[in-house]
Amino acid sequence: MVCANCGRRTLRRKELPQGGADFHVLVCNNDCHTTWDRDENAALNMRLLLILQLLGRDRPAVFCRQEYGGVN
Ligand SMILES: [Zn+2]
Repeated sequence: MVCANCGRRTLRRKELPQGGADFHVLVCNNDCHTTWDRDENAALNMRLLLILQLLGRDRPAVFCRQEYGGVN
């Protein structure tokens, strides 16, 4: 998951005091420390990708699966 504030793949689910995790709240684990509603973060990332596509720009590498060993 990419943080819409800093653009890094450093988001983690918010851990709950009683154990487990809140699947709707993400916390950025680097210097930005942004706390996100999962859907709001996703919407901002999708908006960014749409704008870049409309401008004819390449998809940022952080959003590409191959860079992280996945399959496109
Ligand atoms: Zn961040």
